[in-house]
Amino acid sequence: MEQKTIIILGGGTGGLVASHELKKKTKELARIMVIDKNDMHIYAPSFLWLMLGQRQAHKIQKPLSSLNRKGIEFINDEVVKIEPERKLVRTKNANFHYDYLIIALGAELAPEKVPGLTEAGYDLYELEGVERLREDLKNFAGGKVAIIIASLPFKCLAAPYEAAFLLDEYFQKNRPCAAAHHVA
Ligand SMILES: Cc1cc2nc3c(=O)[nH]c(=O)nc-3n(C[C@H](O)[C@H](O)[C@H](O)COP(=O)(O)OP(=O)(O)OC[C@H]3O[C@@H](n4cnc5c(N)ncnc54)[C@H](O)[C@@H]3O)c2cc1C
Repeated sequence: MEQKTIIILGGGTGGLVASHELKKKTKELARIMVIDKNDMHIYAPSFLWLMLGQRQAHKIQKPLSSLNRKGIEFINDEVVKIEPERKLVRTKNANFHYDYLIIALGAELAPEKVPGLTEAGYDLYELEGVERLREDLKNFAGGKVAIIIASLPFKCLAAPYEAAFLLDEYFQKNRPCAAAHHVA
């Protein structure tokens, strides 16, 4: 039987689950490729534990090239165009033909849309913001914490609420004078 090519755009949660499940089901019947502009997969659900110092950054990320060992081809490139009529994906550096396409490119963050947000706040959805928050929490002397959902839709609806509860517990244990307030 002719081998089919399945291309998965995005090596985030959706792309990785899809690639592993499809590899298990199709074995050698399909050539499976994952294309992502980043070379590392960072497991974002662990950001909440990173925030509290209960995880280390290097333990929640893995090179996407490790997919190759499982027979899934990883291409580190940025997708710039999809041409469905030609079954073609264009990246910055190459073109790829597919038989089946899965699009799992996630949501783009745009903190710059809220003036002052980047300077004043911590981005719970990016590694750098969470690491900064973890360090500043150590020196937090008290006051109000606002957790802002700037617009809808946003990825992981539970994360702001989980962060509020976890921070509240953290402050109760570590800083009795402060409390977490959730502002939606
Ligand atoms: C704090 C936090 C907690 C979370 N908790 C949970 C949880 O408990 N359960 C849960 O299910 N989810 C959770 N999530 C969400 C989860 O991490 C995923 O973001 C979400 O499931 C969406 O997955 P996705 O694969 O669609 O997108 P993403 O995981 O965002 O992946 C998209 C991928 O596409 C790539 N990409 C984007 N554009 C391009 C392009 N043009 N070219 C090439 N590559 C591109 C990106 O680099 C990225 O790797 C949480 C997220 C956060 C931040």
